[in-house]
Amino acid sequence: MAKSLLEEGHRPEVFDRQPDLGGVWLLRSESKQAGAYKKVRFQTSKYTSVFSDFSGPSGGGHFYGVSDMHRYLSAYAEHFNLSPHIRYRTEVTKIVACADRWKVTVARDGEIRTDIYDGVALCQGLFWKPWQPDFAGLSSFQGQVMHSGSYFDEECLRGKRVLVVGNGISGMDIAEDATKSASKVYWAMRRPKLIMPRMAGFVPNDFQSPASLLADGDPAQMLERIRHSMPDYYRQYRKSGLLPNLDEFREQPVVQINDGIVQMVANGQVEAIIDEIDEFQPQGCRFKHSQRNLDVDIVIFCTGYANGEYLDSLPGVSMQDDFAMGIFHRDNPSLVSTSCPLGIAYSGTFFFPEMVARWYARVMSGSYRLQDNELNYHLDRRHGAVMGPIASLVFGLKLGLLPDPKREFKAFWQLLNLPSFPQIYRLRGEHSDPDAANRLEELRKLSLTNGKQTAALEVVKHRILAGFDDVVLRDLLRRGEIEERDYQGAGRYATRAIVFDWQSQYIMRGDAAARSETTPAYGAPHNHVDDEDYYRKLLGQLKTGELDNQGLLKALAI
Ligand SMILES: Cc1cc2nc3c(=O)[nH]c(=O)nc-3n(C[C@H](O)[C@H](O)[C@H](O)COP(=O)(O)OP(=O)(O)OC[C@H]3O[C@@H](n4cnc5c(N)ncnc54)[C@H](O)[C@@H]3O)c2cc1C
Repeated sequence: MAKSLLEEGHRPEVFDRQPDLGGVWLLRSESKQAGAYKKVRFQTSKYTSVFSDFSGPSGGGHFYGVSDMHRYLSAYAEHFNLSPHIRYRTEVTKIVACADRWKVTVARDGEIRTDIYDGVALCQGLFWKPWQPDFAGLSSFQGQVMHSGSYFDEECLRGKRVLVVGNGISGMDIAEDATKSASKVYWAMRRPKLIMPRMAGFVPNDFQSPASLLADGDPAQMLERIRHSMPDYYRQYRKSGLLPNLDEFREQPVVQINDGIVQMVANGQVEAIIDEIDEFQPQGCRFKHSQRNLDVDIVIFCTGYANGEYLDSLPGVSMQDDFAMGIFHRDNPSLVSTSCPLGIAYSGTFFFPEMVARWYARVMSGSYRLQDNELNYHLDRRHGAVMGPIASLVFGLKLGLLPDPKREFKAFWQLLNLPSFPQIYRLRGEHSDPDAANRLEELRKLSLTNGKQTAALEVVKHRILAGFDDVVLRDLLRRGEIEERDYQGAGRYATRAIVFDWQSQYIMRGDAAARSETTPAYGAPHNHVDDEDYYRKLLGQLKTGELDNQGLLKALAI
């Protein structure tokens, strides 16, 4: 936020109650209460989980750990000389409207200061207030109770019988971690979620282009693809009993990333219990459906964080009702929130605060005027999660950072077929970076796009073109931006046009199942393949150079 504001000519003053830079990535073992733990590794690769204007040090693995991320953030602050603008050990305690500006109170070492600001950006993060369900009998449990927020590493579990509750990222990581020191690890969840390893074959799991995401008709085909492209993993997955229910996955097609837990459950190192906890007892707990009693020494609740409707520092302002799109204060958009109120799927999360910051900087300088349809967009319970690659695209179009598809369709389509590399959003528009094209080219080589279009992608292309009127299509055709068959194809999909409006970035609850029934399965180009010969053939083609990594990926439609 500070960098984007400076870039646009504003004078930011940043307050952070921590003693140093890093947010959740400033990890300290003493009195840890929230955020990351020692062995966290990013689930998304360092190619999508960075800011668009700074790639970070090269080398190392594909996925950052805690110290890598801390180093990256420190290098970023140094590169853009941000430290002089940050006041550490300073807590924001109150923000109140003051005419069309904001009165902000901060506290440092017991000293209180109040100032008036033209705008306020809330960048307080989402992982600071541990939340756990209110289980019957928990106070009678004689063992130890902790939350993943206070978990640092597995040392505290040595020799103990551990129950890990919850199958989000921290639940999977901590259950895996616990096997290194605990005498027994139980892992309880109400229902399984889809788990993928960090590397999907030859590339990181988040090398999903927006075009390939749009090609997926039925989310449940993802399981089919895992079965075909990672047969060993799929075998372990079946053995583990953790395969999710397809209908539930269709409803909420969000993928969790973890490398070891499926195998650990399959080989018995971790005992998964798919059931609800009925109540706690002095020695452990009882499960609801199986009525099983479990004796344990320690329970770790990996049940997430409370990001309530109201912030302590912002009395009377509802983060749900008062923020358009979950971002701008509806009545006075000089108050903005950078934390995505929903989970982000299929890409790193960094693009979200960055895009909001770039948008906000322009709103504050008057070079972007928010429209009524933006200020009236309301997030409700149907909004399930954000599809990262599509959201980047929607932001990019809004802020003029992408080629206008109605004028430069070829260039737009090319970028749409790349994974969600942040550098895409520095190629053009305000505050573009002359080096972005080179950095993008390096990344493109990593993903090795061969430029070939599958039938499924061609349909996506035609569905996008179907959203343009005939005058635009004819102009694109005349200027060689599209071919005759694209023009014809657009006509075939008139009723199923893809439009990149604000809504298009969300996975809506309840809509996915309906969509999978009405939408042909364009994302399953290898549905006809039921044996392993096909994969051997692909590997052979890869070895001889007939196919590159991206070609392989496309053939498998990952
Ligand atoms: C275990 C874990 C794994 C993750 N894995 C990934 C991943 O694989 N990929 C990915 O892209 N993202 C991942 N994330 C998310 C990622 O960490 C966040 O997207 C990013 O770090 C959030 O940065 P932030 O600055 O918005 O918030 P934070 O890092 O939470 O920073 C917020 C800062 O605000 C300060 N603050 C809060 N309230 C106040 C106040 N009232 N006054 C003063 N200061 C205040 C806090 O002290 C903190 O320093 C993960 C997060 C966790 C916890």
